[in-house]
Amino acid sequence: TTVIDIHDVSKRYDEGPPALTGLSLDVAEGEALAVLGPSGSGKSTLLNMIAGLDRPTEGTVTVAGTRVDVLDETASARYRRSRIGMVFQFFNLLNDLTVLDNVLLPAQLLGTPRAEARQRAGQLLDGLGIARHAGAYPGRLSGGERQRVAVARALVNRPALLLADEPTGALDTASGADVRRLLADLNADGQTIVLVTHDLALAASCATRTIELVDGRIARDERTAAR
Ligand code: ADP
Ligand code: ADP
Repeated sequence: TTVIDIHDVSKRYDEGPPALTGLSLDVAEGEALAVLGPSGSGKSTLLNMIAGLDRPTEGTVTVAGTRVDVLDETASARYRRSRIGMVFQFFNLLNDLTVLDNVLLPAQLLGTPRAEARQRAGQLLDGLGIARHAGAYPGRLSGGERQRVAVARALVNRPALLLADEPTGALDTASGADVRRLLADLNADGQTIVLVTHDLALAASCATRTIELVDGRIARDERTAAR
């Protein structure tokens, strides 16, 4: 099954060179794709296209069967909530909500019945080894623990796709290794992942495929026999 089908996408902003040029990319269910490339090569733009946060100037973006490049704002927000989970460098947790409530939030926004959401959140917190922190506030957790919470939040709605933007970028060596293992384990369990990173160790330990962007084009596309 194809999870991402990007067809001949170009993105031009008002100023500067095109951010993406004639880019096509298929990602199959179960792949863990690492997107590498120098600063300014179009990685964030590509991620934003997949997340429906920005629209291509030309071309089509289909994710889990949905044409995301044509959604209005409401449909786009709903698409993000229901079909994808996102993890960021700086966690983006809400510090005045407990860990459990952070994880429950996307399910509440989607309208999942509370009992079902709590069960799913409990499973995730258990599975990610952070159940003992369920009632704590994120500010009391280490960086690695916070990223685990962010991953649990991203997965609570069972997304077809997990998007991660420099998920180890703000972590120390040990926590970074921990999050690399976590993402590799999730992928081994079948989760489709796209991650943008400068962390070559992350790509090496977790990606089943690596592409490199240069000037808004795919300069390299390799299967990586990570595992
Ligand atoms: P990367 O994530 O690889 O660093 P980006 O996708 O952020 O690359 O940027 C690709 C190109 O698009 C760069 O030349 C950048 O300056 C430009 N760009 C990105 N976002 C905008 C924007 N909102 N307005 C104008 N130019 C942008
Ligand atoms: P709204 O339109 O209600 O403000 P969105 O659904 O558009 O909310 O999401 C706003 C931001 O929240 C997104 O840009 C993204 O950074 C983050 N976000 C959305 N969905 C998720 C999710 N499932 N997991 C983690 N973060 C998310």
